Amino acid sequence: MEILMTVRKIASICTMGANASALEKEIGPEQFPVNEHYFGLVNFGNTCYCNSVLQALYFCRPFREKVLAYKVQPRRKESLLTCLADLFNSIATQKKKVGVIPPKKFISRLRKENELFDNYMQQDAHEFLNYLLNTIADLLQEEKSQERQQNGKLVQNGSGGGGCGDGGGGGGEGDGGKGTQQTWVHEIFQGTLTNETRCLNCEAVSSKDEDFLDLSVDVEQNTSITHCLRGFSNTETLCSEYKYYCEQCRSKQEAQKRMRVKKLPMILALHLKRFKYMDQLHRYTKLSYRVVFPLELRLFNTSGDATNPDRMYDLVAVVVHCGSGPNRGHYITIVKSHGFWLLFDDDIVEKIDAQAIEEFYGLTSDISKNSESGYILFYQSRD
Ligand SMILES: [Zn+2]
Repeated sequence: MEILMTVRKIASICTMGANASALEKEIGPEQFPVNEHYFGLVNFGNTCYCNSVLQALYFCRPFREKVLAYKVQPRRKESLLTCLADLFNSIATQKKKVGVIPPKKFISRLRKENELFDNYMQQDAHEFLNYLLNTIADLLQEEKSQERQQNGKLVQNGSGGGGCGDGGGGGGEGDGGKGTQQTWVHEIFQGTLTNETRCLNCEAVSSKDEDFLDLSVDVEQNTSITHCLRGFSNTETLCSEYKYYCEQCRSKQEAQKRMRVKKLPMILALHLKRFKYMDQLHRYTKLSYRVVFPLELRLFNTSGDATNPDRMYDLVAVVVHCGSGPNRGHYITIVKSHGFWLLFDDDIVEKIDAQAIEEFYGLTSDISKNSESGYILFYQSRD
């Protein structure tokens, strides 16, 4: 455990309750957004990796709305998604505006479903985000295909009737054909990358598309997100043993390859690769580099045929890693809600100034690896 978080924790124990009403006072009754709730989440033993991601997702409005809408649908058997829906619903329907909630059912479901999370060790928040989004998407796809099967049976059984069926069966089929069915997780987080390869012998360009739910980018010292994204899309030359097989030349040729964004997602989740395996040390170490992330973002690494290259994004949440390594330290989250910024540190919620966000860019000096630095950024598109 880091000294830093221990101090925070002690402070939290002393001010629990008092802290909650202090937040309410600080925001003020007039300014406090109607129908909004700021609830901390109890830590069940190194579960801050989970709490921090859940808070960030709660403040990704399109995601929150879909999860809450799922809650009001007819009851299904317990899954990670029903537990998440219950948790979000319990935050959204609290009488009090601020307070603390134990995400107990969600955590125990998570531990039951995936042995990776079935312990009291610190986990990687990005790995958890990935797991959560993919699990929800899988569940929704499964439900869709079950519904389709049932509808199919109805259509078969009642082939004479036609008129009285539920919804006339047509809906599902049209969106298929892509292999995986689109769910609201895809609608919100999915973007497309295009991988363009240019043969240096005949200049033929071939491209291959690839979908993503989040983008992982390398980080460098004293840079910005735009720099990281540019690096992500840098041209790479394939030569010697890495030559590329060109269909036109029908032989292996030197080629240039680059990856650009073809379809920009509604919510862009950017993961900064701050944990790097060091061969000499035989372990992962943290890159605390200072990487500036703007409040407004436009992507410059889009492809020529991109469908929505001018999308403007606003920063809505940042999962911050505090400490020196992936299996140590602590996660907190800062979110933007109704024009102001809040910091969620497990059960503690504080209002912070917009300027304070700079403190989470990282460190300009490499000497100390212990930092509170932005790890996963959530940008929401304006349109
Ligand atoms: Zn060629």
